[in-house]
Amino acid sequence: MDNLQALSYIITFTAALLLWLLEGVLPFFSDRKHRGKHAAVNLSLAGVNLAILLPTGILMAFALEQSKVVWQGVKSLEIPFVSQTLLIILLIDLWMYVWHRLNHEVGFLWRFHSVHHSDPSLDVTTAWRFHYVEIVFSELLRFPVFILIGANIHDILLYSLLMTPVIEFHHSNVSIPSFADRFLRVIIPTPLMHRVHHSVIRSEHDSNYGSMLSLWDRLFGSFRLKQNIKNMAIGLSNESSPEQQRLFALLMRPFRN
Ligand SMILES: [Zn+2]
Repeated sequence: MDNLQALSYIITFTAALLLWLLEGVLPFFSDRKHRGKHAAVNLSLAGVNLAILLPTGILMAFALEQSKVVWQGVKSLEIPFVSQTLLIILLIDLWMYVWHRLNHEVGFLWRFHSVHHSDPSLDVTTAWRFHYVEIVFSELLRFPVFILIGANIHDILLYSLLMTPVIEFHHSNVSIPSFADRFLRVIIPTPLMHRVHHSVIRSEHDSNYGSMLSLWDRLFGSFRLKQNIKNMAIGLSNESSPEQQRLFALLMRPFRN
């Protein structure tokens, strides 16, 4: 296994475990019960998705390697290696913003992405709750996008290593001082920002799409904050997606006895 890949797994797991423990002692929403059961549901979905992601990762490494013969994207620019890598990381994060926004704005994609939003108890495990169809579409679209950018598998691993702890953090139910949130959201999407993204109110959940950087939401007018988040309803209202209720029931059938 590649060193970067091993490091990415270690950071993902360690950050998730630390945040999970912190949620127990410093929760933002203090009414959370049955945390273990809640985590088991979300991690079951993550297990299905991992079975899709592991083989596509190997295919991705091969496709990116082969594509360099005909197209090098950012790698063909005559700039230092570090600048190439930073530009690639920025472009991948921009694509993540665009893809997330499309999942909200295209009705067909929202049918699957709404499974992520259907979690009524936002915490670190929500970062891993996705419908497998969304994962398949996301992976299929990454091939042409990453080839166009000129990324190689090391750039993608580096991006994943940086981005994953950020998405785990902004989904987490950890309470952090408001000055720290204000300071951090200059660079990354913070828990306060991302809680607005999980509001049941559509105009609120159609905001704060950023994965690793908050820059794109500021740039494209989707940055949003809200007062009194502690009283905010999280998840989906029945009328916001009846389709989602059916899909989720179908998806969870294998996990029921
Ligand atoms: Zn979303």
